[in-house]
Amino acid sequence: MKDDRSDIDYKIASALEKITQVERTVLRDMAKRENLSPIQIQFLIYLSKYPLQLRTVSSLAREFDLSKATVSEAIQALETKGLITKFREEEDRRSYGIALTTEGKKTTRRIQNWENILIKHLHRFQPEEKERVFLFLAELIKSLYDDGVISIPRMCIACKNLEIRPGKKYYCTLTKRMLPEGGTVGCEHYTSGRAG
Ligand code: SF4
Repeated sequence: MKDDRSDIDYKIASALEKITQVERTVLRDMAKRENLSPIQIQFLIYLSKYPLQLRTVSSLAREFDLSKATVSEAIQALETKGLITKFREEEDRRSYGIALTTEGKKTTRRIQNWENILIKHLHRFQPEEKERVFLFLAELIKSLYDDGVISIPRMCIACKNLEIRPGKKYYCTLTKRMLPEGGTVGCEHYTSGRAG
């Protein structure tokens, strides 16, 4: 790989870093206001989005690339703050599931808007332009996933249930429906394993 700082690859990497920085700043300010850590905020949002079977310490550890000990510590802190509650799984009494309390749901509704600043700016661009960007980013995330840099992309492009039909039409074999170009992200039915 050539080491030329003006190369388009470096420009894209710097631009992505800048956007991540914006997200980090917004998240940090929100965390300060709510007296939570940034990861606790992300856990609350995750718990509000995914079904019971994905609300466990193991799922959180996989999703956020953290050790189970780190996740358990953050979960303990959220429980002490009265924002989540733990319940034992019927089939496996050793592990537990996690649910938001009423207070946790209220907090989550307040913090869920932390991405709005980015969304507001994205609204200013043309849909066709954004679709091209999304396809590019989806492929980039898939490439990182294929190389083991990220463990769980939760998007169609890396999902075992994706079938790409003639004309680059995306079809989900699990939900039996056609998907928008490039698929979706954050799907609760995501199953890792798509090759190629
Ligand atoms: S299960 Fe979800 S992530 Fe997988 S292809 Fe279907 S919609 Fe996409």
